[in-house]
Amino acid sequence: MYTEASKGPFCQSCGMPLRRASDFGMGADGLRINDFCHFCFDRGSFTDPDMTQQAMIDRCVGFMTRQTFTPEFEARRVMRRVIPTLKRWSSDSVGSTCGVLPDAPKDAKE
Ligand SMILES: [Zn+2]
Repeated sequence: MYTEASKGPFCQSCGMPLRRASDFGMGADGLRINDFCHFCFDRGSFTDPDMTQQAMIDRCVGFMTRQTFTPEFEARRVMRRVIPTLKRWSSDSVGSTCGVLPDAPKDAKE
């Protein structure tokens, strides 16, 4: 029987699994932010507030290919599916000032 624990929380900005207390971001009040990792969110704000969804995908693809030796096209396919579903990038974003793109045509270039 599987439990919810096997899914684990993920950073709602970059998709990183949040396993340890030190993985989580921190609010302005010093309390843990359950939705974001410390790379994305620190002391009450996004570390890179101008980050776009596309830039985040690129960053995560680079990270994934280095960390897991996944071929780039495969990593990109996964990230394109995962990143837009995360809270930071979905239309009902937690923060209204973090540069959420409206429905951009994804396949304009391909
Ligand atoms: Zn993150």
